[in-house]
Amino acid sequence: MNTNAVFSELNIHLRRAHLLDSIGQLLGWDEQVNLPPDSAAQRAAQHAALAETTHAALSDPRMGELITALETQRETLTLDQQVVVRWARRDYDRATKLPAEFVREKAQQGSRGYHAWAEAKKKADFASYAPVLEKNLELAKREAAYLGHAAFPYDYMIDRHDPGMSAAVIEKLFDELKSGLVPFVREMVGSPIKARTDLMRGFPVERQRDFLREVTEKIGFNYQRGRIDVSLHPFCSGTGADIRMTTRFDADNPLDSLFSSIHETGHGLYEQGLASDQHHTALGQAAGMGVHESQSRLWENQAARSRGFWRFFEPKFRAAFSEQLESVSSDELYLAINAVEPTLIRVDADEVTYNLHIVLRFELEKKLFAGTLAVRDLPKAWNDASQALLGLTPSNDCEGVLQDVHWSDGAFGYFPSYCVGNMMAAQLWYRALTLRPKLEEEFARGDFTWLLSWLRETIHAQGKRLDTLGLVRHATGEELSPKWLLRYLKERYGPLYLR
Ligand code: ZN
Repeated sequence: MNTNAVFSELNIHLRRAHLLDSIGQLLGWDEQVNLPPDSAAQRAAQHAALAETTHAALSDPRMGELITALETQRETLTLDQQVVVRWARRDYDRATKLPAEFVREKAQQGSRGYHAWAEAKKKADFASYAPVLEKNLELAKREAAYLGHAAFPYDYMIDRHDPGMSAAVIEKLFDELKSGLVPFVREMVGSPIKARTDLMRGFPVERQRDFLREVTEKIGFNYQRGRIDVSLHPFCSGTGADIRMTTRFDADNPLDSLFSSIHETGHGLYEQGLASDQHHTALGQAAGMGVHESQSRLWENQAARSRGFWRFFEPKFRAAFSEQLESVSSDELYLAINAVEPTLIRVDADEVTYNLHIVLRFELEKKLFAGTLAVRDLPKAWNDASQALLGLTPSNDCEGVLQDVHWSDGAFGYFPSYCVGNMMAAQLWYRALTLRPKLEEEFARGDFTWLLSWLRETIHAQGKRLDTLGLVRHATGEELSPKWLLRYLKERYGPLYLR
């Protein structure tokens, strides 16, 4: 068989695996948005049946033969075909190198872990949760070993979320970020200026819904190929042709709903910008978690919290909520949009202090994997780090080590992506401003097209051709650096709080 025939057959297999995966995503979305309360057991059975079928498609021996055949004829492949084969190999190995017994054990431990975490959190009882974490660490190390990364299991966990990244690369970036950010946060905390988010009360949900639809449509989300609904925790799922975003509403906190919707829209815009005929291959898939997060954060923070953005949307916001905003001045509104207040809880954190929450988790994960920190010593290590980084000490473990769900099902190496995304977003923002100095003036006129087309071209269209660091280099001509995020935070928040 010639190369092109083999490559076409591989595409047929990849398309089927992708379709099955997209059905799973749809089931998951439906579960969060529509599922009647007593239908959970049936949905779990549907998930399990589909997962088996998807796994069979991903680990089909014929797929393995096709990949191997193409690898032996590598020099006859185009560069794009090489990208497709490289990623097909990675996914195939992941689907086939883990013994079935291990996969079962990990799935069981995942659901056991979630319940143990929820229980422990209810009672602020870390000791009952510690054995679960120890087990999860052991499983993560075994998984790394099965895939040939026994020597550096934490690097494997990071690379799973952000291809090409390692603990050493992240440590260097985070150390530089930390040394600039900790003193800046101290200064901000000392500022007598406080945002008045409590001024925003009684915003009717229907009008919030209309307003966020107008905003997300204006920045470019295509509602012919996606939708937004309500769920407990906002998320974005689906692929290019059908993006499902969710948000939540609170009459007394309209900015939370608005900005989390813009965040999810950033994820949705990335997915909608991926090559539409290649969603089943690496050419039409997102480059990684950090890159995905850079797209959501860029829209949510750099763009949607800018003066230019609000010069356009403030009159519309006031028209929609005239009574509610009657006694709120423009300055008060802009300060509420850019509220900063250190908190112990990551999910409640503002964009200035958020990154320190991530640095904290990364440093602890690294030590756990290196064996220099024992699980039983985590609460104290957490509290000490919280004091050193945020200037706040948790009064109990719910405000500390028990606050996040991630580790309960073994999602290590995931947290750093959030901060990598923030760094990348800021770097992209300054590159955009260099190329387009009048960008914010265009925002003020309601024109958001340039930024989206630039992202489409430099980031979205690349798929997985480049990894996180490669994409940053490609888009900005420089290595990924925290200096842009530090500059952005100081330029945006300094004038508001350190006058
Ligand atoms: Zn996100």
